[in-house]
Amino acid sequence: MSLSDQTYDRLCQIIPGGVNSPFRSFHLVGGKARVLKRGLGSRVWDMDGREYIDLCCGWGPLTLGHAHPAVVKAIQEAAAEGVLFGAPTPWELELAEMVTAAIPSMEMIRFVNSGAEAVMSSLRVARSVTGRAKILKFEGCYHGHVAPLDAVGHEARQQGGAVPLGATPAAIADTLLAEFNNLESVEQQFSNHPDQIACVILEPVTGSMGVIEADAGFLFGLRELCDRHGALLIFDEVLTGFRVDFSAQKRLNICPDLTCLGKAVAGGLPVGAYGGKAEYMKRLAPLGPVYQAGTFCGNPLTMRAGLAAQREYQKEGFFQSLGEKTEYLCERLRRLLPDALIANVGGMFSIGFGVKRLTCHRDAMGFDEKRFAAFFHAALAEGVYLPPSTWDSASLSSAHSYEELDLVVQKLTRAAAVIMDADPRGRAR
Ligand SMILES: *Cc1c(COP(=O)(O)O)cnc(C)c1O
Repeated sequence: MSLSDQTYDRLCQIIPGGVNSPFRSFHLVGGKARVLKRGLGSRVWDMDGREYIDLCCGWGPLTLGHAHPAVVKAIQEAAAEGVLFGAPTPWELELAEMVTAAIPSMEMIRFVNSGAEAVMSSLRVARSVTGRAKILKFEGCYHGHVAPLDAVGHEARQQGGAVPLGATPAAIADTLLAEFNNLESVEQQFSNHPDQIACVILEPVTGSMGVIEADAGFLFGLRELCDRHGALLIFDEVLTGFRVDFSAQKRLNICPDLTCLGKAVAGGLPVGAYGGKAEYMKRLAPLGPVYQAGTFCGNPLTMRAGLAAQREYQKEGFFQSLGEKTEYLCERLRRLLPDALIANVGGMFSIGFGVKRLTCHRDAMGFDEKRFAAFFHAALAEGVYLPPSTWDSASLSSAHSYEELDLVVQKLTRAAAVIMDADPRGRAR
C-alpha cells in the first residue's frame, strides 16, 4: 500500500473522516484522499512523491499559487520578529487600508481568523443594527460552518430536521430561504415576514453549487428590496474576494452594506475579515454592544503575509490576466467535455456533467456526480488535482502558466477519453 494510503488510514482512526474539513475527504468521489506534503507554484506532491498540477488551490485562497516567494519572505520575517502580541500592530493598519481601498464599500473593517467567523460576526452586526432576528439566505449558497446557515434547505430535509444537524429549531426558524437569481422568492419572504428580516446574505458568485454569477437585475433588485424593507444586504465574498477580481461587487458594480472576506486575503494564511458602513461597524465592542473578539485576530504572521499578497494583487492587470487564463482553459474544457457545463468567472470555474443550464440550486441538483467522480479519478491518475466535488469551484493561480494549462488540457484529454470509453454518453450530444 502507498505511504499516502497508509497515512490516510491512520488519520481516519483519530480524526473523523481523516480530515479537518469534510470536503477534503473523497467522500463524494470515492477512494482515499491523497495525503499531500509539498507545494510549489502550480504543483503539489503527495507523500509518495507523485506530482499533480493543482486546480484546487487550497479551495480558493492560493490566488498566487503555492509558496509564492514574496509571501514566504513575509512569513519568515514575521516568524523571526514575533508572531503574536495581542496588541495593535502597524501591519493591521496597512492591511486594513489596502483592503478597504480595494473594496471601497468597506469603510471600516475587522480581521478575524476564518470566513465562517466573518459571516457569523456580520450577521450579529446586522441583527444589532436592525433590531430584527431573521436572516434570509439562498438555497445552495455556502457561508461556512455557521449554524444554522449550513443546516437549512435540502441538507435539513435529508437529515430529518434541525437537531440531527446540531442546530436548534428556533435558529432554523430564524433562517429563511429563497432561490438564487429569483427576486420573486425574496419578495415573498419579505411579505411573509414584515419588519423581521435583519439582512439578506448571498455569494454574488457562487462556489458550492457550481460557479453561478448572480444576474445584475437580481442584485439591483435585492439592493432595492433591502432598502425598501430596512434590511442590510451582505455580500459573502469569502471566496470571490481577490479571486474573481478585487471583489465581485467591483465586477458587478453594486454596493452591499456589509462584506465578508477570507480565503485569498492573506496569500494562503488563515484569515477572515468583514466590514462595511462605519455607522454599522461602530456597533462592535468596545464602541458598541456587539461583542466580537479573538486571540489570533489580526496576528502579525497573517497580516504581513496579507500585505505581501495584496501588493501582488495590485500589480497592473493581475486579475484580468487570471481571468483570461481561466477562460483559456475553460474554452478548451468545453470542447473536451461536451456533456458538461463548464462555468467560469474570474479565477473560478466549475465542471458540471449532465446539466444544460445553471442559474440556481435547483439546476445544480441535476449534476451527474457519478460521471464527475469518474472524470475526477481519471484526471488524478493523469496528475491533475481537481477539487474532489462537482459542487465546488476549482481555481487557477497566477503561478499557472499558459504552457502549464496546455499540459492540463493534454492530461484532461486523456482523462476525458477514459470516461468516454467507459460511458460514451458525452459523444451523443
Ligand atoms: C470558504 C467559504 C466560507 C467559509 O470560510 P472558512 O475560512 O472556511 O471558514 C464562507 N463563505 C464562502 C462563500 C466560502 O467560500
